[in-house]
Amino acid sequence: MNRKENEENKGKRGKIERFVLPGDLLGVIEEFVPGDNCYVEDGKIYSNIAGYLLVDKAKHRANIIPGNPRQKLPKVGDKVAGIITSTMRDSATIEFSMVNEENIGLPFTGLVHVSQISKKFVEDVFAAMRRGDIIRARIIDVKFLPFQLATNEGDLGVIRAHCTKCGEPLVKMERDLLECPACGLKEKRKLAKDYIQPRFSTKDKHHN
Ligand SMILES: [Zn+2]
Repeated sequence: MNRKENEENKGKRGKIERFVLPGDLLGVIEEFVPGDNCYVEDGKIYSNIAGYLLVDKAKHRANIIPGNPRQKLPKVGDKVAGIITSTMRDSATIEFSMVNEENIGLPFTGLVHVSQISKKFVEDVFAAMRRGDIIRARIIDVKFLPFQLATNEGDLGVIRAHCTKCGEPLVKMERDLLECPACGLKEKRKLAKDYIQPRFSTKDKHHN
């Protein structure tokens, strides 16, 4: 994964319109503000690179996310795996490049709304997911970036997590409850049924 691309795509919002090539006309400056990987000539905006045109209608901004035409774009129903980069009370943001167990290279951002975390009621994202967790989720909407994701199935949710106090990998104790083997802290998560137990754990029944 290219770290620079990773940083650039982080937090980008908008609708993926189409694949474009260097020099492709995207629009005029009256329509959009040229964003990343665009250039302006005679009042017209062109793409500087090959990639996907992402239009943020709220900010009237066009960005190109680097990519290639062979690249598969995530679609509704796909299972993705990635890392939680930020959480708020009502949503968690995920960055992923694993789609249906295949690395598609370019990282995309997804968002899990609190209502899509579990079949059970979750009041606060903090009781189910934390920054740095690795989760598996299903895509439920791809109209806009970040894509909408859900983890409300048995094999979806957190698959790896670390102690928020000391950073040790957490051990699954029971359904949706983890414990730190180093400091004893107990933390709640919405766990996938195949949560990856740390290697040293003695409760390692489902390790894979
Ligand atoms: Zn700990």
